[in-house]
Amino acid sequence: MGRPVIGIATQTLPGKPGGDLPTCWIMGQRYVESLRSVGALPWLIPLLPDDPDTMRGIFDKLDGIFLTGGVDVDPSRYGENRHPKCGATDPDRDAIELMLLEHAQATGKPVLAVCRGIQILNVAGGGTLYQDVTAMVPAAMKHDYFPTSAQPSRSYLAHEITVVPDSLLGSLLGESIVPVNSMHHQAIKDLAPGLKPTAYAPDGIIEAVESTVSNFCIAVQWHPEELTDTQPGMKRLFTSFIAAAA
Ligand code: MN
Repeated sequence: MGRPVIGIATQTLPGKPGGDLPTCWIMGQRYVESLRSVGALPWLIPLLPDDPDTMRGIFDKLDGIFLTGGVDVDPSRYGENRHPKCGATDPDRDAIELMLLEHAQATGKPVLAVCRGIQILNVAGGGTLYQDVTAMVPAAMKHDYFPTSAQPSRSYLAHEITVVPDSLLGSLLGESIVPVNSMHHQAIKDLAPGLKPTAYAPDGIIEAVESTVSNFCIAVQWHPEELTDTQPGMKRLFTSFIAAAA
């Protein structure tokens, strides 16, 4: 049995205006390392939405799909106008990740999604997003602990989550109250049919979902790839995903 091939969509890095840097496709190394360390064969995927034949050829090689953090999903994907606080978007990445999720659903391939990943999963299923939690949810706590020079850690435990015990996530984390990092300014607003919430922040923001129809489709709003060394439950998210893909 070979190592399961895990597809990871990249993100467009625009070239500098007037500069000599061409447009690139990039992805953070930590995601790749977290998958590799549990036995996956990670595969970074180019963004070629206008070439479905090439994309399908790549998709067919995959055993599982990992959706990473990144820029905001374009609000047009869930039928909304852009809010002033909505950040940068990457329409090509939106297109490829939606194609990937359609492929996963059609083939039953496992999905593990983090941060932006839970958001695009919800949008793919027909749900919507808060384009900015602070601006749109008055009672919300702070969720946008993006690293700064004063607080540079991506593993900073920003808030707790309450895990729904009767869920795949609950069985993997093994605890009902879990501290997590929090580097997001958007979140699920209307939940898509076919998904159920499996964890909440203290302010009621949905922090995790899983599919009610697929075998293994887990999505979390925090960044477990930064916590695998300190929280065994976070590591189990990755090892169980790879086991499902193998
Ligand atoms: Mn959060």
